[in-house]
Amino acid sequence: MPATYEVIVVGGGPAGAATALRLASTGRSVALLERSHFDRPRVGETLAPAVQPLLHDLGVWDRFCALRSLPSWGTRSIWDEPDPAEHSHLASGYASGWHVDRRAFDRMLADAAAEAGADELLGKTLVDCRYDGAAWNVVCSGERRLAARLVVDATGRSAVLGRSLGARRLAFDRLVGITAYWQGVNVTDEQYLLVESAADGWWYTAPLPGDAMVGMLMTDADLCRRDGLTGAEAWHNRLQATTATAERVGPRSPTSALRVYPAASQRTIRRDDVRPWIAVGDAALSVDPVSGSGVPRALRTADAAAETLAGLLDRPGEAATLIARYESIRDSECTTYLIDRARYYSAVRRYPTPFWNRRQKQLVGN
Ligand SMILES: Cc1cc2nc3c(=O)[nH]c(=O)nc-3n(C[C@H](O)[C@H](O)[C@H](O)COP(=O)(O)OP(=O)(O)OC[C@H]3O[C@@H](n4cnc5c(N)ncnc54)[C@H](O)[C@@H]3O)c2cc1C
Repeated sequence: MPATYEVIVVGGGPAGAATALRLASTGRSVALLERSHFDRPRVGETLAPAVQPLLHDLGVWDRFCALRSLPSWGTRSIWDEPDPAEHSHLASGYASGWHVDRRAFDRMLADAAAEAGADELLGKTLVDCRYDGAAWNVVCSGERRLAARLVVDATGRSAVLGRSLGARRLAFDRLVGITAYWQGVNVTDEQYLLVESAADGWWYTAPLPGDAMVGMLMTDADLCRRDGLTGAEAWHNRLQATTATAERVGPRSPTSALRVYPAASQRTIRRDDVRPWIAVGDAALSVDPVSGSGVPRALRTADAAAETLAGLLDRPGEAATLIARYESIRDSECTTYLIDRARYYSAVRRYPTPFWNRRQKQLVGN
């Protein structure tokens, strides 16, 4: 017999864990299915100050403080001008953002959901999910079978569940992040995020807990292929051609291999599908890391998702209306986000290169 729940959340990143935490805290029976054991590197390590009230509201602020993340005092960006613009988080009203170990952060949220009563199933990958008109029947790795009235796609940018149910991912660009880590860095004077534009994209460097630093080149997938930017030498040469980023990293070589992460802006579109499932976090709308808003957004949409899921459980006859309202708010968020993204990229006029030209063209609607 399958284990039966009210809700199965597939994906234990910030969006899935926060959704499960909210549901479990209100007495709903929920399973949180996560394919990893939070044991491999995860990107998205700089949390904006806006994350603080969200963590308080989830009741996990003390747990977060126990992680001993590094305060992030602000952002330095070299965008269209050669000189850095400084943005201090003191003005945000929360004093600082944070540089976190994402494995520890994501595990902390998932464990909080488990302590609130969610069934945390780690090391379990979604294999199959079907709706029989009354319940979802889910199979995960190890041939484990589960059933629930509702399912949630919280699988991040891959939106594996939504796509398997027929939803379409509408992509707005082809951004990827080519990432490396340095260990043994004295980060005392480095507690800020540095963003620097370059001909084929932009660089992001940030310190990490444990005397480490992460650096990534954000560029388009086709440009990455064309110029072989996943090769250590090509990547390093591009880094050396920067100013502040090269100075920050110095002569040291990365202590990790390069790894490519998909980072395209995408919205999941479901048309005329009233089956009781929803997507949350990146699985619903994934945004460009330049916005610095991925994790706060994931936590915010988890709140909206939990409210919609409670409505679907209590008033199943209103499913079509509840889902339509949830999707329409995500559509509005997507529109606002695309306008903001256009504003970030329109500020850079100094590179007549495909990466920037594409983004300038998008501004005038081509
Ligand atoms: C290169 C890059 C840099 C970024 N930098 C930042 C940053 O500095 N600050 C910031 O706020 N945001 C950043 N982001 C965005 C941020 O990481 C995401 O917005 C955030 O992680 C979204 O949370 P999520 O829970 O929706 O998805 P994810 O964090 O992607 O979590 C999805 C979870 O689902 C699990 N999963 C996937 N498939 C399955 C399956 N089939 N079965 C079971 N489990 C599955 C995964 O293991 C994962 O744990 C960055 C993103 C990228 C790509």
